[in-house]
Amino acid sequence: MIITRPRDWGRIKDNLAEVGAERVFIMGCGQCATVAGTGGEKEVLQAKTALEQAGFSVTGWAVGEVTCHSGGTKLETRKHYGDLQAADAVLVLSCGAGVQTVADAVSKPVLPGLESVFLGNVVRHGVFEERCQMCGDCVLDKTAGICPVTTCPKGLLNGPCGGMWNGMCEVLTNRECTHVRIQRRLAEQGRGPMGVLPPKDYSKKLKPGSVNLRESKKGGVR
Ligand code: SF4
Ligand code: SF4
Repeated sequence: MIITRPRDWGRIKDNLAEVGAERVFIMGCGQCATVAGTGGEKEVLQAKTALEQAGFSVTGWAVGEVTCHSGGTKLETRKHYGDLQAADAVLVLSCGAGVQTVADAVSKPVLPGLESVFLGNVVRHGVFEERCQMCGDCVLDKTAGICPVTTCPKGLLNGPCGGMWNGMCEVLTNRECTHVRIQRRLAEQGRGPMGVLPPKDYSKKLKPGSVNLRESKKGGVR
């Protein structure tokens, strides 16, 4: 899931002032931002209270089922057409993908209410960890299912670095070194040492990413 954190409140107020907004519609997200505790109904209502206390008028609010889904978000904006028309701007409590989806669906200034920080594993309720940067050239087959480029703070494909001490990471000193973990798990699985991995092909991390399953069925995916 996409992990988000609240955007600096002063920055949000500045952004609203920059577009001359006094009346605001708030949109949250029922998926990742709800699980992350940043953009569900509770946080949308907290934002409503904060905006009103700061002198803004809130014309309405909604929590989209999946705010990055174009069709669903268009439907949601149609349901709240009047409230959106009455607003000068829309504040979106979702990841950047959701903010852009709302911006495509309405003809008002649309502003981010959160910062999008990483693709995260849900370790347990309220605890998230980054395990994959979506590089497009996965090496987990060689690394016993542990991503070196994401979980090593230096992003080292091969390691450990010279700072590893007694199996622990020199940067995150309370964590075991990623490369020590990889070698141990490989050994536990009866696999040989990893050896040196060749440089990753970062050209596979295409920007902007795009997949069209309709085209791929015709053999046209890149
Ligand atoms: S190697 Fe790339 S795709 Fe695989 S887990 Fe790491 S960042 Fe993700
Ligand atoms: S000690 Fe290991 S995990 Fe930490 S920075 Fe060095 S190689 Fe990466």
